[in-house]
Amino acid sequence: METKTMNIKIEKAKTSKIDKVDFDNLAFGNVFTDHMLVCDYKNGSWNIPEIIPYQPISLDPSAKIFHYGQSIFEGMKAYKDENNDIWLFRPLDNCKRLNISAKRMAIPEIPEDYFMEGLTALLKLEKDWIPQTPGSSLYIRPFIFASGTGFHASPADEYKFIIAFAPSGAYFSGKVKVLIEEKYSRSANGGVGYAKAGGNYAGQFYPTQLALEKGYNQVIWTDDNTHEFIEEAGAMNIFVRINDTLVTAPTSDRILDGITRKSILKIAKDEGIAVEERKITVSEIVEAAKNGSLKEMFGAGTAAVISPISAFGFRDVDYDLPEIGDNYASLLKKRITDIQYNRAEDKFGWRVKV
Ligand SMILES: *Cc1c(COP(=O)(O)O)cnc(C)c1O
Repeated sequence: METKTMNIKIEKAKTSKIDKVDFDNLAFGNVFTDHMLVCDYKNGSWNIPEIIPYQPISLDPSAKIFHYGQSIFEGMKAYKDENNDIWLFRPLDNCKRLNISAKRMAIPEIPEDYFMEGLTALLKLEKDWIPQTPGSSLYIRPFIFASGTGFHASPADEYKFIIAFAPSGAYFSGKVKVLIEEKYSRSANGGVGYAKAGGNYAGQFYPTQLALEKGYNQVIWTDDNTHEFIEEAGAMNIFVRINDTLVTAPTSDRILDGITRKSILKIAKDEGIAVEERKITVSEIVEAAKNGSLKEMFGAGTAAVISPISAFGFRDVDYDLPEIGDNYASLLKKRITDIQYNRAEDKFGWRVKV
């Protein structure tokens, strides 16, 4: 990646934790690297980012993040190939989406070069933390929150932008059983569903807990108005295969514009798979399950890439999906991960070398 140097100050950690980490048994997102990038917004502008040892943050109890929830984040990964080269996948799209989220939550936008150069500098410093075991990667969590103080319900005047890394193993969620949700909603027209806002996740936890108690792993969100259309699978975009056509819900105010989703659409078209971006009704899915035309359902997102669904529940009836050998989920997952790990030609120009 071309980077003009921005003079990012680096304060190195006195000791490294890397020898204590079992890289062959990494879970997802609970081990953190030695350093983090921190960038403060004060007096109306973003300071130059700095890299410091990974450490807790001290905040005033009246910091607005605690009271009014101004908090947004991104999720992305860095991959190491056989030659120890490091790759990112469509990173500018994450930066642009962070700023879309920022705008909606009245958070000041982060300059693209601060994001990209800060991320690159931190990756170069932490390159030994990028795991190489198959399927594993360095999970990257950029986030911004309101650190400014005061109980007045208005946007804060100070913010922190932080990037932290978590080396993570392959995300084998297994096949998931999902519940089509008709009471609770993840998002609404005119709301913040399209933003990667922390509060969107908080609002999902309770209905998801209820689904877990009923024996499901995840919730399928439907539209808030009629609950007739399926929209997302937990915090992933949703794909449905009816006969040989791959269908996904169109992005909107209510649906997050996933980078995995739009990459899968491109790859599927390239594979000659018939693809439709259109509203999907619950009754259509139920009908398709009954008459055997429903072949696959899966969620798509950075963490798991593709998460196949084995069954869905709707109004106290469970509908099983068939096990098909040459399924789209495996084909598409292989094609996208081969690009991410530099194992295949990158015909769409998505890969960025660090
Ligand atoms: C992050 C996220 C996704 C997936 O987006 P990717 O860019 O593919 O990781 C989908 N839905 C929701 C609600 C999300 O927060």
